[in-house]
Amino acid sequence: MCGKVISSDDSLCPECFEEVNFITKPYCKRCGVPLVSGGDETYCVTCLNKTSPLRLCRAAVKYDEFSKKLILDFKFLDHIENKKLLARWLYMAGQDIFKEGVDLLIPVPLYYTRLIKRKYNQSAILTAELAKLSGTEACYKSLKKVKHTLPQVECDGRRRKLNVKNAFDVLHCDKIKGKRIVLIDDVYTTGSTLKECAKALKKAGAKSVDALTVARVCKK
Ligand SMILES: [Zn+2]
Ligand SMILES: [Zn+2]
Repeated sequence: MCGKVISSDDSLCPECFEEVNFITKPYCKRCGVPLVSGGDETYCVTCLNKTSPLRLCRAAVKYDEFSKKLILDFKFLDHIENKKLLARWLYMAGQDIFKEGVDLLIPVPLYYTRLIKRKYNQSAILTAELAKLSGTEACYKSLKKVKHTLPQVECDGRRRKLNVKNAFDVLHCDKIKGKRIVLIDDVYTTGSTLKECAKALKKAGAKSVDALTVARVCKK
């Protein structure tokens, strides 16, 4: 991140590592949002009052200036050498989910025109790396983005939900049926995209859908 040469390709130098804000307990048992206090069975106000198609959500780090740069470099600037580091963080953050049992990892898909423009799907790269690390099967073809949408960063809260509504579809239901699925993405902002993916997967017969992201937007 700072340009210093280090000996391993899946870590940061000590100074950069200091900058990382890992999400640690206490956090909401369901959505993983950091909480001021609580134990292993504490839920946030939103989860107590609302149902969600997502069972558990976990994220490794808080979304801040540092993680933003790490993720944007990975996403747009071909810095995929950080895939091992980020996959390791995902695996760490996902311990609760892996304990529950996982059958299939699925990346949040890009619409095909965006994939051509960007050359690779950052979530699929993370998924492949995490699949290796955790010994879990990954699936790249069942969940499809069927609608071109505005980048979510250009929408505010309510519009984000509308923007991705019915944007995803499942092509091979037989791959999904009865499976415990974990969706992989880089950032959890409002969760609209992940929830929309989860809805499509549940409709196709998934037993459960969890979400694992590198970073999560947290209110200060
Ligand atoms: Zn550094
Ligand atoms: Zn919650």
